[in-house]
Amino acid sequence: MFLTHLACPRCGRQHDAEVLTNLCECGSPLLARYDLDAVRAAVAPADIARRSADLWRYRELLPVRDDAHRVTLGEGWTPLWPAARYGAAIGLDRLLVKDEGLVPTGSFKARGAAVGVSRARELGARHVAMPTNGNAGAAWATYAARGGLRSTIAMPLGAPAITRNEVVAAGGELILVDGLINDAGRLVADLLAAAGGDIFDAGTLREPYRLEGKKTMGYEICEQLGWRVPDVIVYPTGGGVGLIGIHKALGELRELGWIGDRLPRLVAVQSTGCAPIVRAFEAGARRAEPWTDARTVAFGITVPAPLGDELILDALAATSGTAIAVDDEEILADLRAFGEREGLLLCPEGAACLTAARKLRDSGWLTADDEVVVLNTGAGIKYPETISTPGA
Ligand SMILES: *Cc1c(COP(=O)(O)O)cnc(C)c1O
Ligand SMILES: [Zn+2]
Repeated sequence: MFLTHLACPRCGRQHDAEVLTNLCECGSPLLARYDLDAVRAAVAPADIARRSADLWRYRELLPVRDDAHRVTLGEGWTPLWPAARYGAAIGLDRLLVKDEGLVPTGSFKARGAAVGVSRARELGARHVAMPTNGNAGAAWATYAARGGLRSTIAMPLGAPAITRNEVVAAGGELILVDGLINDAGRLVADLLAAAGGDIFDAGTLREPYRLEGKKTMGYEICEQLGWRVPDVIVYPTGGGVGLIGIHKALGELRELGWIGDRLPRLVAVQSTGCAPIVRAFEAGARRAEPWTDARTVAFGITVPAPLGDELILDALAATSGTAIAVDDEEILADLRAFGEREGLLLCPEGAACLTAARKLRDSGWLTADDEVVVLNTGAGIKYPETISTPGA
């Protein structure tokens, strides 16, 4: 294993990676750091090309020491589909959709859960707990069960119903909260305090390894394009783990010399019903203020106060990216328009990215020949209510 330590991006403090760790003393999330010179000497892209079609193909850049602790259901290596017909309709000649709906549990959250649970297990955790908007809880309960760990999952009553069922099906302890994810977070904080260290806090960015699983989307995009980057990556941003992870992955690949110096412009997509990052980006602020009265059909991105706000805003600034909010009516219309042209039923969060791409093309921020990768972060069939059938 090439993991060396955990580093704080805010205060620079270093932490031991061999003990279960949550946030830095300064309150910032921690980032896993690797000996990239040793990785470069140990493995080349050609070696990776011959490996299994899952995220473990990047094992030198992942934090699990002993394969015996690897908890897997075959997550990762999702297809990157050209969407030429829909692209032509919105004026983009090179539009690609990475379909995370094919990952176990039907969302890319399984990437974070696979790596997060594996590492937590390796470091001795026996019980994990977290607040969630649904998919993360479903994935962590699933992978916890697979790894022989207990899980306690707190989610808002409004979260997609199927995600509750997934938690229960995996034997997780489900707590429903009349509120939003931050309310669920307060409840989990109380529970953790009462447990006195027996339960590991696996909340978004509160442990460093979920990010390591999610960053593999960035590796895959580059590998699938022949070890080069697209011009733009469009990502539905709630907690922002995927966006921060993709940015981290791109930085690692650049340092390894596996891609060139140029990075894609990253786009954070939010809903007009919950857009703390967009508001901070437009104000040129370093931190995001909590959003009040959050509400959107794209439930996975209803995060009023993301803990990773600085890291998200840094990723946008460092790549000359942008942030944009789209409204529910447009999201649902684009979900239909995309399905009619490409056949793939998107999740609302994925559809939000296509709305964003359409609007950024209209405004001229995107040009016709920009190569644009959109993340469809979950399976459309988890959200049957996005489609109404005639006569039903
Ligand atoms: C969690 C989730 C998101 C947001 O992911 P972050 O990485 O936390 O920003 C987007 N789409 C879906 C379907 C999700 O479940
Ligand atoms: Zn710190």
